[in-house]
Amino acid sequence: MADDNLCTYCNQLATTRDHIPPKLLFSRPRPSNLATVPACLQCNQSFSADDEYARMVLLSHHGASHTTFEDQVERLSRALVRPEGAGLKKEFLRPFVASGVFNQERDQDKPVAVQFDLARVSRVIARTAIGLHRIHYSERLVPEYGAFAADLDAVAKMPNSVDSLKNYLFESINDVTDTCRPLEWGEQAVVFVFGRSLHDPRQSVWRFRFYGGAEFGVWTVPREHAVELNGSVYCPEE
Ligand SMILES: [Zn+2]
Repeated sequence: MADDNLCTYCNQLATTRDHIPPKLLFSRPRPSNLATVPACLQCNQSFSADDEYARMVLLSHHGASHTTFEDQVERLSRALVRPEGAGLKKEFLRPFVASGVFNQERDQDKPVAVQFDLARVSRVIARTAIGLHRIHYSERLVPEYGAFAADLDAVAKMPNSVDSLKNYLFESINDVTDTCRPLEWGEQAVVFVFGRSLHDPRQSVWRFRFYGGAEFGVWTVPREHAVELNGSVYCPEE
């Protein structure tokens, strides 16, 4: 297949390999069974800052806890309250998205809502799904399709005016959850289920849980419109 030489994320020639899920999502020693996908140098070099950011945000999600990251969660909470944590705080607070606010307890007695750049986190998770798509379906996601990631808490809070979209997102997510068996990496640091549409195999659904807390859905759909999956999900062969 001519596509074999192309970057997983763009149309350039691939000269490097990108770890999927991103290796920065795991503590050291990192899981030895991380897969890699072909990537161009430009894409590959652009990822690490976002991956690091995503890990911090996902670890800060209420409910998130992971044995291999306990010290890091504590360090992160402390860093946010210390004056010298200002740089980190600024980094966290810089760009805003309107929806999906995670709660981060910065003070024992005073829970404060911290707004994270969920769009940035979502990009990392969408990229993970695109990489996994290539690995599990032995096929590069064609450029006519895109991956869209959303925090499932934010989807649940979508206003009624977008009810049909909301239903579509949840129905497809529930389909894979009910039908497919979850896979995991790094002592369940990342757990996911996935499947694809029987009508259009390029339309896939991915449900991720990070560090036992944050849950995200990713949908690969034709770029020009979010076509429904018609509720039929195909589970991949093991
Ligand atoms: Zn690329």
